[in-house]
Amino acid sequence: MSVKRGSCRLTRLEATLAVLFIIMTGVSVGLIAVMATGWNDRSKDPEVTVPPSAPPQESPYLIGVGRADCTGPPADIPLMGYATLDQTAGGIHTRLYSRAFIVDDGRKRVVFITADIGMVSQRLRLEVLNELKVKYGSLYRQDNVVMSGTHTHSGLAGYFQYTLFMITSKGYIKPSAQAIVNGIVKSVDIAHRNMKPGRLFMNKGELEENSRNRSPHSYLNNPEEERGRYTTNTDKQVMVLKFTDLDGDGMGMISWFAVHGVSMNMTNRMVSSDNMGYASYIMEQDKNIGSLPGEGPFVAGFSSSNLGDVSPNIRGPICVNTGEACDYLNSSCPVGGTKVCLSAGPGGDMFESTRIIGENIYKKAKDLYSKADQELRGFIHAAHQWVNMTDVTVQINATHTARTCKPALGHSFAAGTTDGGGDLNFTQGAVEGDPFWDGIRDSLLGPPSNETQDCHWPKPILFNTGEMNWPLPWHPQIVDVQMITIGPLAVVAIPGEMTTMSGRRIREAVKQELQSQGSFKDAEVVLAGLSNIYTHYITTYEEYQIQRYEGASTIFGPHTLSAYVQKFRGLARAIAEGREENLPVGPEPPLFTGSPLFNLLPAAGVDRKPVNTSFGEVLEQVNPFYTLGDIVSVTFVAGNPRHSGDIRDKTFITVEKFHNKTSSWEVVHTDASWETRFYWLKGADQHSNTTVEWHIPRSAQTGSYRIRHFGHFKERKGFITTITPYEGTSDIFRISQKTWWYV
Ligand code: ZN
Repeated sequence: MSVKRGSCRLTRLEATLAVLFIIMTGVSVGLIAVMATGWNDRSKDPEVTVPPSAPPQESPYLIGVGRADCTGPPADIPLMGYATLDQTAGGIHTRLYSRAFIVDDGRKRVVFITADIGMVSQRLRLEVLNELKVKYGSLYRQDNVVMSGTHTHSGLAGYFQYTLFMITSKGYIKPSAQAIVNGIVKSVDIAHRNMKPGRLFMNKGELEENSRNRSPHSYLNNPEEERGRYTTNTDKQVMVLKFTDLDGDGMGMISWFAVHGVSMNMTNRMVSSDNMGYASYIMEQDKNIGSLPGEGPFVAGFSSSNLGDVSPNIRGPICVNTGEACDYLNSSCPVGGTKVCLSAGPGGDMFESTRIIGENIYKKAKDLYSKADQELRGFIHAAHQWVNMTDVTVQINATHTARTCKPALGHSFAAGTTDGGGDLNFTQGAVEGDPFWDGIRDSLLGPPSNETQDCHWPKPILFNTGEMNWPLPWHPQIVDVQMITIGPLAVVAIPGEMTTMSGRRIREAVKQELQSQGSFKDAEVVLAGLSNIYTHYITTYEEYQIQRYEGASTIFGPHTLSAYVQKFRGLARAIAEGREENLPVGPEPPLFTGSPLFNLLPAAGVDRKPVNTSFGEVLEQVNPFYTLGDIVSVTFVAGNPRHSGDIRDKTFITVEKFHNKTSSWEVVHTDASWETRFYWLKGADQHSNTTVEWHIPRSAQTGSYRIRHFGHFKERKGFITTITPYEGTSDIFRISQKTWWYV
């Protein structure tokens, strides 16, 4: 890849973007030598928990599950979520996976995919669907494949085609996008190959104290009568769908729960699957006994839901500089503004918070899984439409209609949230513009039209994205609305981040339509968030009036939710009446190609090393002795991980244990392991280091260990550039149960 320079248009682009970068900095929103030992240690799920009283249905579903690595190059590329351009990747905390689940009733087939990424973009979806078409013809299509992101804010950016998202990603970054596309397609391939007759069960329960509303003031603006029907201002439901073979042996599960993937905060630089990914991780480790992370047949997907106003940072917001309470309405602090009004918890640091939140979801889901006895029976349906969301007429009541708007973001968008605030003097809850920023906007981007301003009122417009089309449209217009049903279970694919009350209204509307027909009288509706295309947030009309971050980020205007309710009602009614195949397809979204897909990330340069050293050489050695609970650390001379190419299914590091009997080393951890942290630290003048930490778990065996690091370095000799693999190995260290006393 190279930076596209040399035209005055791009110079203008860069100048414009540079200023926008300033505005947006702070907006919240291989070798590789694969070790043979231990990598294919698969074991069957030992737990048989299906109650013997439930007989299989007459003709069972065909089901398949699959998981594949979708981790891209963990260096230089911005992380997707906090939209902070200097929060670039520097290593791996945990790997990212796509998990696919296929169900076929002999007549129809549906696929549900949940991937450890910030959100599914339209670009990603179109690329995946094109790949699936090449491989499978018309078997997997836009109507029967749902793609959802877990909303981790520590996945890689760079897989978007609309200008605003390209700006926060430093462009469309092919190696990042390709890793996700290939990982998703591979997860479908594996699920497709594994299909066999099986059974599905569902179960649901409540998980308290694992989430907190981060815009309670907006929520309170919803009608009192409506709020009165609920005891909490976030949804606490965990819904589990259990997959077994005909013998009752577990194959996999999907869990849906509404909470933001922001336990890892803006200071993190390592690629991480955050709390939901950790729930998947421990559920799979629990079922695939003896397997390394990412290995083994059992697949556990933990999907996002209506998490728009839901934070995992359950200690709540506080002014981190003074310890005072933040302003309730605007989430700002007397000294330091919005930037220092932050939420954290429940752990002592972000790693512990991720672990606690993830473990709580896992424990609840595991319990629901083991007790699931409501078997799903009945046909499968899939309904999908492409909708031009800038032009939907909404029936408000018997006499009044309203319309959706061209996309625009309000001033409070730049304030960020209490999970990560903006750098500038924006605050949440702004219903009036700011002459300073409006002036900058007008001179750079042009003022929004009166029509757009009126349509979005009371939102003061900061980014008039719907009227900005250079070099490509800044926001999408055509949006996927989609739902699938498996027997009584309906999965609604939400094209963005829906707030708690918005999600409740959608669920209620869909349920009502489905229940109007006898075959769906026991309908259960779940929402899969961040699905198919990203359109920021979706609040209720009442929450929109408050214009906190979520309202300011509801891009199609105050009637966005009402439009979705109308559209999803239409899909549900069509399914209930068995005529979903006759729904109008709608306008097909564009797939942009060529130079307008800009890339502002410079190619990774040659690697340099300290004199008299070699790549992979140890700079800071391990200690000779450790005890359980200690942290082992070793630092190597490193190359840029971007030189390692496609890193999927490989590892940059291993922790290896020596076996005396066989005189061989066994890999006990990789860079996918929770216990390991692979830090890549970029120094000056193309020098870089890798520091590998192993946080020794209390369950570790005593014995002799070593840590290895694998990578590639790039060098130039004359006119020739080469990329060469290297590896490094630490000294051997011993782990014992008791503390070593040094004398
Ligand atoms: Zn979000």
